[in-house]
Parts: sequence; structure tokens; C-alpha cells
Amino acid sequence: MDFALTDDQQAIRDLFHRFAADEIRPQAQALDRDPRFPEELFAQAGELGFFGMRYPEPEGNGSDLLSYLLAVEELSWGSLAVAAACTMQSLMGTFFVHRFATGEVRQRLVAPALAGQVKGTICMTEPDAGSDLFSMRTSAEERDGTWHLSGQKTWITSAPMADMFTVFARTGDKELSIFLVEQGAPGLSVGRFIEKMGVRASLTSEVSFDNTPATCLLGKVGAGIPALREVLAEIRLMTAAMALGVARAAYEDAVSYSLERAQFGKPIARFQAVQEHIAEMRTKLEAARQLTHWAAWRSTQGLENTDQASMAKLYASEAAMEICDRAARILASYGFANEYPIERYLRDARFTIIGGGTSEILRVNIARGTTRSWQGQA
Ligand SMILES: Cc1cc2nc3c(=O)[nH]c(=O)nc-3n(C[C@H](O)[C@H](O)[C@H](O)COP(=O)(O)OP(=O)(O)OC[C@H]3O[C@@H](n4cnc5c(N)ncnc54)[C@H](O)[C@@H]3O)c2cc1C
Repeated sequence: MDFALTDDQQAIRDLFHRFAADEIRPQAQALDRDPRFPEELFAQAGELGFFGMRYPEPEGNGSDLLSYLLAVEELSWGSLAVAAACTMQSLMGTFFVHRFATGEVRQRLVAPALAGQVKGTICMTEPDAGSDLFSMRTSAEERDGTWHLSGQKTWITSAPMADMFTVFARTGDKELSIFLVEQGAPGLSVGRFIEKMGVRASLTSEVSFDNTPATCLLGKVGAGIPALREVLAEIRLMTAAMALGVARAAYEDAVSYSLERAQFGKPIARFQAVQEHIAEMRTKLEAARQLTHWAAWRSTQGLENTDQASMAKLYASEAAMEICDRAARILASYGFANEYPIERYLRDARFTIIGGGTSEILRVNIARGTTRSWQGQA
């Protein structure tokens, strides 16, 4: 097995690391305290080609999955909130438009979206439909050749500044379809801004549709779940990479603090109890990274990676929570103070256990995949 990054992958990691260190980190605390969409950083990420990474040339720049995950880890090391805003654009907010839009709509939206000039978002969750997508009530009806949407979505990342909304809606009893709705469409309203404990600069709102005409149907009627499955493993690996980034930030801050902080006449890094935290943090961070990169490698080889991506996301996000918590213990009172970033890491990391499927749902999926494959062998 070859664990080495290629020169191109190394270069991408270095590029996004410099961006995160020089531009994102200096603003991360202020963006958390006084949340606003990170407009300039988003534009810079676009200039670095982040939004086009996972789309083939000539519209995108055709980066491999591991390169993308390395970039996501670096952005998340800079600020998980900035990474959340950028990953919404790079994957979920653009994926279905790129996959299905044709003709004039494609001409008008795809290239600007991959450059970050047209902002996208994805609307699936509803007040009464989270993990259980089939219980969504938003519905679409075709009249005179135009689809009209009615219903309410919630927790929609980047909704307040979105130009295009990819909307999942019911078109039949057990049938979900995907629609493109553009800002300014009649009956579309972006409602209540949701205050959050973490990833605060990634703005989240309710969105409602009142007989709103869609620009177009994306894919075929009923394509919702099959199309979502095409990108779900990648969304999960992306979330795992986000967890790696925030966990690494916490780990590095804690190790460096443990060497500087002295109690009882020696650096706290010399106490066994603190060493245990450091060893657990480092081991779990490395294990999470290997699992994530292995699942990405399987995807690149064309091997099955549905359960592998779920395992990576489950492990990395739970490890991130634990690593941020252990970091906070090492900093003790300074880990509790909001002038240091540790408490922000802890709040932000929590997002990674919800977005892209909760840990509980992932465990159910992994167990189902396991028993299915065992039954297949019998
Ligand atoms: C910061 C943030 C940004 C988000 N951005 C978006 C976005 O842009 N677009 C969008 O559509 N959504 C978005 N979401 C919503 C997110 O996808 C949902 O929160 C997620 O799918 C979980 O749904 P829920 O919160 O309604 O929880 P529920 O589904 O109600 O789950 C509640 C609890 O029950 C458990 N549970 C549910 N079903 C099962 C089961 N079958 N087996 C075992 N346990 C189960 C869950 O794991 C959880 O612990 C965002 C959420 C957050 C926090």
C-alpha cells in the first residue's frame, strides 16, 4: 500500500493550508462572535479553484477526491464555519445543477457557480422531516409545462445569500424529485435566521415556497433518491474531512499549550494524565484520517465505498468531538474562555455529527450493509 501523497496532492494541501493560515484563521474568532457570511474568503476560495474541484474539465478543474478532501481539511483547520459555507457551494449546492441542467440554464449557471459567483444551496430538511426524507411534505405539481412548489424547508445553509436553490420535493407517494428554483421566483421566501451554537458564520435559514414556479426539473421525475445516492458517499467523506480539520486544530493547540504551561515546576506535558490525552488525540486523529483516505482511495479505484464512507464519517466526527473535548481539558480554564479558540472548536465540531447523516443513522446504515453482505455470502 502506498500512503504517500502525489506531488499534485501535496501542492493542493499546501495551497489551502497557506490560505487557511494567512487569511481564514485571523478572521475565525470574529466571524464566530459576530456571525456574517464570509464573503471575501468565499470569493478567495473561488479564485483558488475550490468550487470546481470535483467537476470535470472544462467546466471544473477535475481534481481527484483525495485532493478535494485535503483542501476541505485545511479550510476546516482554518475555520469550520468558513469550510461549511464553502463546501455547501462546492458539493451539495452545485452538484445536481451540474449533473442535470441543460441548455440555457446550464450556460447561465454552471460556470459562475463553479467560480463561486452564483451561490447555491440545497433544500431537503423540513420542520417534520430530518433523517426521514420520505416524510417531507413539500410537493411539486406540473401545470402548463411548469413545475410549482409548495412547502417549507428549514436548516438551509447559505439560504440568505443563495442565488439558486436545489429543492427536493414530493411528486408522488414514495417519489421525490429535484427542482431548481432561482432567487426572485414568485412565492419563494427566505425566512427566520437560525441562531446556532457552532459554525455560526455559515448562515442557516428557513425557506418557504408558495406555489413557486421552478426554473426546471433536475433529472427525471422520481430521480431524487437515486441521484442523492450518487453523491452521498462523497458528502460523508467531505464531512469526515471537515471533522479532521477542526480536530487537528484542537490537537495542535493543546499539544503546544501543554509544552508551554507549567504547573508544579514542570510543563504539564510531562504529567502522565496529560500524556494520555495527547496519545489518545493523536491516535484517533490519525485513525480517522486513514479511514477517510482509505474510503476515498476505494472510490477512486471504483470499489464499493458506501459503508466505508459512512464508517469514516462516523468515526471522524465522533473522534473530533472527543479530541476537541480532550483539548479543552488540557487547557482547563483557558479552554473554557471564549478568547481562545478551543471552546469554538468544541461547539463547531458538533456540526460534523449531524450534517451528512447523524451518527445514529450511520450506525443503522453500516449495520444494514454488514448484514446484507453477510447474507450475500451465505
Ligand atoms: C448547521 C446545520 C446545517 C444544515 N444544513 C442543511 C442544509 O443546507 N440543507 C438541508 O436540507 N439540511 C440541512 N441541515 C439539516 C440536517 O441535514 C438534519 O439536521 C439532519 O438530517 C438530521 O435531521 P433532524 O435534525 O431533523 O433530526 P431527526 O431526524 O429528527 O433525528 C433526531 C434524533 O433521532 C435519531 N434518529 C432519527 N431516525 C433514526 C433511526 N431511523 N434510527 C436511529 N436513530 C434515528 C437521530 O440520529 C437524532 O439523534 C443542517 C443541519 C445543521 C445542524
